[in-house]
Amino acid sequence: LTTLLNDPGLLQTRAYINGEWVDGEAAANFAVSNPASGDSIAQVASCSAADTRRAIEAAEAALPAWRALPAKCRAQILRRWFELLLQHQEDLAQILSLEQGKPLPESRGEIAYGASFIEWFAEEAKRAYGDVIPSPFGDRRLVTIKQPIGVVAAITPWNFPNAMITRKVGPALAAGCTVVVKPAAETPLSALALAVLAERAGVPRGVLNIVTGERASEIGGELTGHPAVRKLSFTGSTRIGKLLMEQCAGTVKKLGLELGGNAPFIVFDDADLDAAVQGALASKFRNTGQTCVCANRLLVQDGVYDAFAEKLAAAVRKMQVGAAHSGEVQQGPLINAKAVAKVAEHVADAVSQGAKVLTGGEPHPLGGNFYQPTVLTEVTEHMLVAHEETFGPLAPLFRFSDEAEAIRLANATEFGLAAYFYSRDVGRIWRVAEAIEAGMVGINEGLISTEVAPFGGIKQSGLGREGSKYGLEDFMEVKYLCFGGL
Ligand code: ADP
Repeated sequence: LTTLLNDPGLLQTRAYINGEWVDGEAAANFAVSNPASGDSIAQVASCSAADTRRAIEAAEAALPAWRALPAKCRAQILRRWFELLLQHQEDLAQILSLEQGKPLPESRGEIAYGASFIEWFAEEAKRAYGDVIPSPFGDRRLVTIKQPIGVVAAITPWNFPNAMITRKVGPALAAGCTVVVKPAAETPLSALALAVLAERAGVPRGVLNIVTGERASEIGGELTGHPAVRKLSFTGSTRIGKLLMEQCAGTVKKLGLELGGNAPFIVFDDADLDAAVQGALASKFRNTGQTCVCANRLLVQDGVYDAFAEKLAAAVRKMQVGAAHSGEVQQGPLINAKAVAKVAEHVADAVSQGAKVLTGGEPHPLGGNFYQPTVLTEVTEHMLVAHEETFGPLAPLFRFSDEAEAIRLANATEFGLAAYFYSRDVGRIWRVAEAIEAGMVGINEGLISTEVAPFGGIKQSGLGREGSKYGLEDFMEVKYLCFGGL
């Protein structure tokens, strides 16, 4: 791996606690492997509850000085970090693709996207205004100020090993909080490389800590149980999110949760079909279908159903599948064998109930964690894909006849993260945009993520918003000051 990098210093395999690169107390390691080949890439320090506690204590000790810095000073450090991330974009992308599997152009895109949160929040924190409230009392004046919430714990997933960290750490540090990050065990190298550059940018010791490990419940127990941690920001599965929410109840932590989705992607009869196909490809197949905002159910109106299915299948057949480092590919491997099994299960279940395979539908000849990009038609509400997030390269096409049915189908899920629809009728666009139960809606657009807009879900997809002006508020508390005796 080091031979791939211009700056081998970015490759770190030890945890980062209180400004030091450390082995866990037990000196144990765990293996990180390349999902395209199964080969081991690195051995990384496996942290325990005691290591996690040390990281929390370091963050607690670093808090007073970091919080006391003017936002402008914190912003200058973050700005340097942002610039270093872009300077090392290629190396960071190489590390990311190797441990996560996504094609290199997608990894480069993720590094730029990840860095954008550091830039945005460095700017935004300078504008964390309070209010002067017109007083109803002649002898009192009422004011609010915003203050950092304190030590933040961030637990992040493997599908965006860089950006899911910066989207939490950017606003936290900008607001004046200190952080302990637990990255996914599949992708710790990207997290550690971020810390290398944070250190070079001048982030003081203890302000950012990275606790690596595969003992997730042990580390998570400490992060959710420790009273000094005032906020938990989590991105991952709904099941683990609910568990962590319960664990945080004991110390009443503030929660930011980005959980699962089951995004509908609706194509109405009046849609621009070519644009809808492009949007579906981007939304469904980005990161080989492994994003929480990926279209999970494609709902297509009767009048354009067959034409849309054919156009989509034709485009999907052209996609190149392969390892990130094997040339020009659009689809990488899935993260592991369990992920492949889930796609296979969804396909088998749908086919057994009458769905038709238009393309794909089998493991890819490359073997291992590769699965063929797949399009299924005649998918119905009773199939597994209607209710569960596939998190893989499977586009199931449901059929509907009118707008009311589309809305009913779209909302028939306990999730509410992203939704997409294609139409050119301005009245319908407003009606559907308002009726759809989701935190984010792409209208004639399949890619909606940007640091300047609020990312987050409703229903069981989560709590809070990341990115945008709203994303800073989640890391701050409002304090009310009442000046009496005037
Ligand atoms: P996925 O299925 O995408 O891996 P998870 O919710 O299992 O989603 O993982 C998201 C993050 O949560 C990862 O960093 C993982 O290690 C962590 N995690 C998993 N189980 C627990 C747990 N019991 N406590 C704390 N963190 C956990």
